[in-house]
Amino acid sequence: MKPTEADALANRLEHRPPEEILAWAADRFAPAIAFGTGFGREGCVLIDIIGRAKLPVRLFTLDTGLFFEETYALWRTLEARYDITIEAIKPELTLDEQQRAYGDELWQRDPDLCCQLRKVVPLQRVLGSLDAWISAIRRSQTEIRRNARVVELEPRFGRVKINPLVRWSNADIERYIAEHDVPVNALHEQGYPSIGCWPCTSRVLAGEDPRAGRWRGRQKTECGLHFAPASPTTHHHDVDEPLVADGTGGIS
Ligand code: SF4
Repeated sequence: MKPTEADALANRLEHRPPEEILAWAADRFAPAIAFGTGFGREGCVLIDIIGRAKLPVRLFTLDTGLFFEETYALWRTLEARYDITIEAIKPELTLDEQQRAYGDELWQRDPDLCCQLRKVVPLQRVLGSLDAWISAIRRSQTEIRRNARVVELEPRFGRVKINPLVRWSNADIERYIAEHDVPVNALHEQGYPSIGCWPCTSRVLAGEDPRAGRWRGRQKTECGLHFAPASPTTHHHDVDEPLVADGTGGIS
C-alpha cells in the first residue's frame, strides 16, 4: 500500500464505526491479517466484534509468560465465549533461559530490553506472515498515541496497521462493554485500569492517570510495539530500526 492510499483510507474511515472498519479490513486483507491482543478492555471490545461477526481475522497474544493469573483466565473465557482460538506467540527464550542469559529480573534493570525480547521480537516474527495488523490503541490513552490514524503504514514493521478504536473515549469503551456484556479482566475491579505483565503493573490510585501503574517510577510508557519506548534510558535495542509489528496493549 502506498502512503497516499493509506492516507485516503484513513480519511475515509475516520468516522466509521469499528464494526465497519474491521469488516473492511478483513475483506481487504484476509487471510493475511491478525489482531494482536494484550487483553485490555479495548482488546476485549475488538474480540467481541470479530468473534460475533466471525470475521476471518487471526487472533494472537504475545504471551510473555508473565501475565497475571486473571489474564490467563480471561484468555480462556474469551475463547470459550466466542468459540475462537487466540494463538500464543512466545518469546524465543523461556523465563529461565532469559535469566541465565541476562540475569535475574531483567525487567527491573532494563525493561526496554525485556520488552524487546519478550514482545517486540516475537511480534516481528508473527508479522512476517501478515500484510496487515489490527491494534486496539486509542488516541486518548497516551500522548504518543495522540496522532494515531485508522489506517497507517507502520514504518518500523513495514505493515499496514489498522486502529479501529482510535477515536473512542474511555466512556465509549465502557458503554460498549456494558451493552454487549463483554468479558474483561477481573483485575480492573481491583484498581488496575491498564494491565500488562505482573512485574511491571501496579495498582492505580484515585485521580491518577489510568496508565500510571505501567512501569511505575519510570518514564517508559510504551513496550515498543506501537511506538519505540520513550524512556530516557532507552538502549535502542533495535526498536527504531526497520523490523519487518501489540497492545496490548496491544497490543492493548
Ligand atoms: S512489560 Fe515488563 S515483564 Fe513484560 S516484557 Fe516488558 S519489561 Fe518484561
